[in-house]
Amino acid sequence: MKVTALIYHDVLADHGADDSGFAGADARTYKLTETQFHRHLDLISALPSAVPLRLAERAGEESSGAALLLTFDDGGASAPTRIMPALRQRSWPAHFFVTTDRIGTPGFMTPQGVRELHGAGHVVGTHSASHPARMSSLPYELMCREWSDSRARLEDLLGTAVTVASVPGGYYSHAVARAAAQAGIRVLFTSEPQRSVRYIDGLTVIGRFSVTRRTSDADIVSLASGSGAAAVRQRLAWDTKKLAKRIGGEAWLTARRRFFELRRR
Ligand SMILES: [Zn+2]
Repeated sequence: MKVTALIYHDVLADHGADDSGFAGADARTYKLTETQFHRHLDLISALPSAVPLRLAERAGEESSGAALLLTFDDGGASAPTRIMPALRQRSWPAHFFVTTDRIGTPGFMTPQGVRELHGAGHVVGTHSASHPARMSSLPYELMCREWSDSRARLEDLLGTAVTVASVPGGYYSHAVARAAAQAGIRVLFTSEPQRSVRYIDGLTVIGRFSVTRRTSDADIVSLASGSGAAAVRQRLAWDTKKLAKRIGGEAWLTARRRFFELRRR
């Protein structure tokens, strides 16, 4: 099965404050304005072949064909207030991944907001407990704890099993997947820009394509319709970045922070 999953984060009011999700210039890159977000949904709805689906927990194992999935990371406050109403207009389901330590803190969803998403039929999953800077560098027990603590928190909140997750910061590794599987996760979304679904340690692993405030209309159409060009470009950029991360490690994170600090000046 081929899956095109898009990663969104927060949606801000057009001329409003940065009031949803993580603070800082780096996080801001991934936040769309309401006008941009509605425009993306309009572009997608104009594609007859691209109807967003809800991932059945076993979707990875089901049938052949293609699927378009909308996902939203971090658990920012805009999920129930700006994103959910826009999706409701089209009766589209989506997947929301919540950083559980942030529930009820400024910029993030309240427990009630998380329940509203679930009640509206969206898939609610974990995005780890603390959103560690580099999930793949944590000792294995801490990885397991990030998954199991956050999963328990959401299950407690929703009164239902939570078996879907997305990797914070895109720091995926085999160990991160193994820890997720051990913590009872069944479907894990990564930030690896690829459409093919993989099966690892009883886990369905699904790549995703990033959407930022700079993603062009043409790229949204290309990604959502599965036509290829934008996906290939993102794959190349990702491979280059991954290589730099592997070579640089901490140096990469420092360089990245400096870059955004410089740009802010
Ligand atoms: Zn995140």
